[in-house]
Amino acid sequence: MTAAAAQLDAMVPCPGVVRQVVKDTPDTFTLTVSRENEREQNAFQPGQFSMLWMFGVGEVPISISGDPANREQLTYTVRSVGKTTEALVSHKPGMSIGIRGPFGTGWPIEAARGRDVVIVAGGIGLAPLRPAIYEVLNNRDRYGRLVLLYGARSPRELLYRKELAAWARQPNTQVLVTVDYGGLGWHGNVGVVTTLFKSARLQPANSIAMICGPEIMMRFVTRQLGECGVTTESTYLSMERNMQCALGFCGHCQYGPHFICKDGPVFPYAKIRPLLEKHEL
Ligand SMILES: Cc1cc2nc3c(=O)[nH]c(=O)nc-3n(C[C@H](O)[C@H](O)[C@H](O)COP(=O)(O)OP(=O)(O)OC[C@H]3O[C@@H](n4cnc5c(N)ncnc54)[C@H](O)[C@@H]3O)c2cc1C
Repeated sequence: MTAAAAQLDAMVPCPGVVRQVVKDTPDTFTLTVSRENEREQNAFQPGQFSMLWMFGVGEVPISISGDPANREQLTYTVRSVGKTTEALVSHKPGMSIGIRGPFGTGWPIEAARGRDVVIVAGGIGLAPLRPAIYEVLNNRDRYGRLVLLYGARSPRELLYRKELAAWARQPNTQVLVTVDYGGLGWHGNVGVVTTLFKSARLQPANSIAMICGPEIMMRFVTRQLGECGVTTESTYLSMERNMQCALGFCGHCQYGPHFICKDGPVFPYAKIRPLLEKHEL
């Protein structure tokens, strides 16, 4: 196939069937989707995303949130914020969607080998990081300590609550969770995600950090990581912008000199630091 034909091919959605829909929070659902006879195309790198096409409604970028070792199905965690995501989470098992991708850059899994992995997530930002967590836990001897710091607005907005508890029981793993507003019945940490750093058992010189969440949160987290001694070169972030083609043609997701769809969404912090510090971009 020529490069032009491959690009044209990447614009055509493959049919997929929704197999399962699980409610995670009042507005967030995890969908499991299969593409018949396309096992090989289900391979993805943790951090990559698909374009999910809702017939007659629209197409949106959604990160793959499942286990990269599972080639049978693709998993997406979707927060309903507008017309397309609302249509997506309203799906019932057996219904069809269109899938393009996977697209974009992944988390630095190779570079993380032999090192401690520090994951910092805010809200729905845990979804694109979950495949990296699976990768570390599935291959425990290849990585050092796993430290997960996760913050959400309130307890009812925490994703994957059962898994968070299960991950915390794994060897060589520390999971710290916080919420902005606790309320009755919450006995855990209250405060923004950076307040967890004081309890995190970090070995900064041998750590690689992966961050995803609202930009304001990522600004504070990168600052905190720097203060702890994790270098800019060992810090990676996933960025989000509205996008349409996912192939670097349309320019919707331009971020300074980069396109988030093809140069990202995962960027080394060293590459985008000046842009992240400019709030208006
Ligand atoms: C690489 C990437 C990965 C993503 N992964 C996930 C994921 O795993 N789960 C998930 O729930 N969402 C994810 N998103 C965000 C998701 O694509 C948007 O929520 C979706 O496009 C909104 O479409 P809509 O038609 O439902 O809403 P619209 O009706 O288009 O918009 C609703 C509101 O959301 C705003 N908005 C729309 N798109 C974006 C965007 N991309 N970024 C910020 N604000 C936006 C609009 O300005 C508007 O205020 C990801 C986005 C990117 C770029």
